[in-house]
Amino acid sequence: MVTEAKIKEIFSSIQGEGSVVGYKQIFVRFCGCNLNCNYCDTDFSENDSQIYTPLTLKEKIFSDFDVMAAHSISFTGGEPLLWVDFLNEFIPLIKSTPDMKIYLETNATLTKPLLQIKGNLDIIAADIKLPSATGRDTFYLHKSFLENCGGVQTFAKIVFDKNITEDEINKCVEIVQNSGIELVLQPKMDNDIVSVDSEFCSLVMDKFLKKYKYVRLIPQTHKFLNIR
Ligand code: SF4
Repeated sequence: MVTEAKIKEIFSSIQGEGSVVGYKQIFVRFCGCNLNCNYCDTDFSENDSQIYTPLTLKEKIFSDFDVMAAHSISFTGGEPLLWVDFLNEFIPLIKSTPDMKIYLETNATLTKPLLQIKGNLDIIAADIKLPSATGRDTFYLHKSFLENCGGVQTFAKIVFDKNITEDEINKCVEIVQNSGIELVLQPKMDNDIVSVDSEFCSLVMDKFLKKYKYVRLIPQTHKFLNIR
């Protein structure tokens, strides 16, 4: 049987978050997600989505985009790891493009699919979701996921708002303490406005830095630039 995936959209833009911020990427947004975060503003529904096979996706990307100019191809969602079999067939078709990196944007809760695909990835942008922002405690899932990212360049993104707690800061640090994974703090946005002031951002960053060295604060730059 041919492997297929439901894809919401494919577009080229500048990465606005995390440690490869500012690079040009080709984004492939997959439908569906296994979480339901309070602050989610992404449309990953199947409405207006299209079905692709690995081959038709490759043809679409090469016909519509300047693949050679892109830093990487970003698999995003929703949750792209829900489509792990498709990805494992698709990535080898595009990986031979010189210097093309494979970037996975994930909610970092699905360890089993991660282990199936890890050897095909170059960069993992993993979320650590805070219960105060998502309404659900997923720390144990992030812990297992991040413990299994070894060998792939990985950073963990933490979206926070005024409700972040000391206990959450401690748990985030606990998860990455042994791996040395970089933590990228990202203040939650209300549309294109940062939801907390710069003083609060500094305060939160300092609290993290007291416990862990590899911490950066990077807001969503694409919202300031008004790009996707
Ligand atoms: S994991 Fe991401 S895409 Fe899924 S509901 Fe949460 S914010 Fe939305």
